[in-house]
Amino acid sequence: MIKIKQIFIDMDGVLVDFVGGALKAHGIKYRPEWPSCVYRMSEALGMTDEEFWLPEMLTEQWWAKLLPEEWATSLCVSLESKCPGLRVLTKPVSHSGSWAGKKTWLCRNLPGLYNRVTMTDDKALQAKPGVLLIDDCDEECDRFIEAGGEAVCVPRPWNSQTQKGGIAEHVLDCVDAIESIQPENPNFPRMQVDCPMPECKPPKGIEVDHG
Ligand SMILES: [Mg+2]
Repeated sequence: MIKIKQIFIDMDGVLVDFVGGALKAHGIKYRPEWPSCVYRMSEALGMTDEEFWLPEMLTEQWWAKLLPEEWATSLCVSLESKCPGLRVLTKPVSHSGSWAGKKTWLCRNLPGLYNRVTMTDDKALQAKPGVLLIDDCDEECDRFIEAGGEAVCVPRPWNSQTQKGGIAEHVLDCVDAIESIQPENPNFPRMQVDCPMPECKPPKGIEVDHG
């Protein structure tokens, strides 16, 4: 059995509804039928990168205001209880607004993970035996496994996975299938996702409207 000592979870497409926010930014009201296994949203919409990345989508406000996926909190709570010390592993776009907005998003939506985030341009650098990545990108999962880690690909229309039941349940079933949890430190402080952290204050002007 593989012993998982650390779980990393991706943001966009796993915890954050990036696609919904991008469709809204482009004034597209309905989710288009997604071409099979096309990961890049610009390609799925038939746009160039220049056409896809509107100026507003490079601001901290835009990234901070993206909605959470409906399973985000329950999935994180379940993973934290399986293997204490859950961390976020995310690859921001090359713009400071994305980096800052992702921190603000965590502050407002999953404050328990606010200080447990690694931002990188290469997720595979974190891969080693006993480390699991939960991600929605086939290529990222493959690279993480090739680099020595484990990966669960979250079923979304843009990857090769087929969903069986709810997303959170599917991911947890996959984790159960590959590991036997033995946390390095069973006393690691548990995340309290619903408990706002006093030191975690978003900048003025950043309001998250879930309406
Ligand atoms: Mg992703």
